[in-house]
This record gives sequence, structure tokens and C-alpha cells, in this order.
Amino acid sequence: MVKVGLTGNIGSGKTTVARIFATLGIPVYYADDESKKFLDDPVVKNEILKQFGYGILTNNQEINRRSLASIVFTDPFALEILNSILHPRVKVDFGKWADEQANAPYVIQEAAIIFETGSAADYNFIIHTSCAKEIAIDRVMRRDRIDANSVLRRMQFQMEDAEKSALAGFVIRNDGSELVIPQVLDIHRKLLDISIKTRNLHQNNPLSDEM
Ligand code: ATP
Repeated sequence: MVKVGLTGNIGSGKTTVARIFATLGIPVYYADDESKKFLDDPVVKNEILKQFGYGILTNNQEINRRSLASIVFTDPFALEILNSILHPRVKVDFGKWADEQANAPYVIQEAAIIFETGSAADYNFIIHTSCAKEIAIDRVMRRDRIDANSVLRRMQFQMEDAEKSALAGFVIRNDGSELVIPQVLDIHRKLLDISIKTRNLHQNNPLSDEM
């Protein structure tokens, strides 16, 4: 199965782009949403409480996602710890999920951090959604009804957009300078082509490595 990582900085439009691929029938795994379900897993919950303390529990003894988010948004070391707990589990879950999408030409994992966690090698291709910081700030302010400083706090530890654009195999410009849907369609056609070639290669030589 061809696995595609779809990433981009905060407010760059990853989810918006992912939804366009989904309307084309491509299965999309939303890593941030999926990782949240692990917070209910007792083993994960214990590990998080050991690292972050019982102060992040709600009155119902559940992990307060807002408290956890406010810690990791302002402390890159805390974010690294949280990622080290969640990332391996999400990786396994995504692998299982991808295996279930046998009829799809390719699958997408939408994830905010791919290059930062050194997990680019988990995918056959990476699409980066690129957007100027000022535009992203404005969009997140409107979407989340928060002020510019709150957005900037979340953004302070992210890698530069240009750096990610240089590392990704495909880049979608989502800053209003180009229409987004034609860019998605162009990448979709290329990935379909690659998927067909990969399947043919595998059918002609069943011993060849699956992508
Ligand atoms: P986050 O990292 O915070 O999860 P994201 O990268 O997934 O953000 P989106 O939620 O897709 O970004 O987009 C951010 C906001 O910008 C949303 O409100 C979305 O509707 C809006 N948006 C995305 N693309 C465009 C566009 N081309 N034109 C106008 N608004 C857009």
C-alpha cells in the first residue's frame, strides 16, 4: 500500500486539503484525532500522569486535554515526551488501518508533525501544505476565536515552512496565490499512476517488496 503523509504548519490548511482528498475517495487517517483516543487507554493515561502530574486530571479523573495542550504548546521538551508516548501507538494503529484499506490506490495520514519527529521514512511520499505565517495566523484566529499572541505561542517551536517545503516530495500552496483543488488533483493523478505501477510490479513479481 502506498502511504502518503500530509503535513503542514499550524493553520496551513492540512485538514482542509485532507478533506479534498477524502472527497476523491482516498482514505484519510487523521493522526491528531486518532491520537486523542489513546488518552483513554489506562496504560497511556498512567504514563502521561507520571510525566505531567495529576494536576492535569479533570474532576471526572480524565485527562484534561486543554491543560495538556497548554503545557505542550509552550514547552518543546514536554511535547517531545508526549510524542514519545503517543507516536509509537499511532504508528502501529495507522499501519493496521492502512492494511484494512486494501482496495484504495493509496492512503493518507494527516499529521501536524512528520519531519519534527523524524518519521518521514514511515511514508512513501509526503505532501506539505504551505502557507505564509501571517495568513495562517489570521485563519487560526478566526477558526479558534483566539488572539494573535495565542496563535504565535502555539507556533513558536514549529519548523520553518520553507524548510518543510524543501523536504517534501509534493507541496500544495494554500496562501491564495494558487487554486487548491487543481493542485490536489494534479498530485492525486500522480499518486494514482504510481499506485498502478506499484501494483503491476507486484503482480508481475509477487516476490517484489510491497511499497
Ligand atoms: P491546525 O494545524 O491548527 O490543525 P490545519 O493546518 O489543519 O490547522 P485547517 O484547519 O485546514 O488548517 O485550516 C485553518 C483554517 O483556515 C480553517 O478555518 C480553514 O477553513 C481555513 N482555510 C484553509 N484553507 C483556506 C483557504 N484556501 N482559503 C480560506 N480559508 C482557508
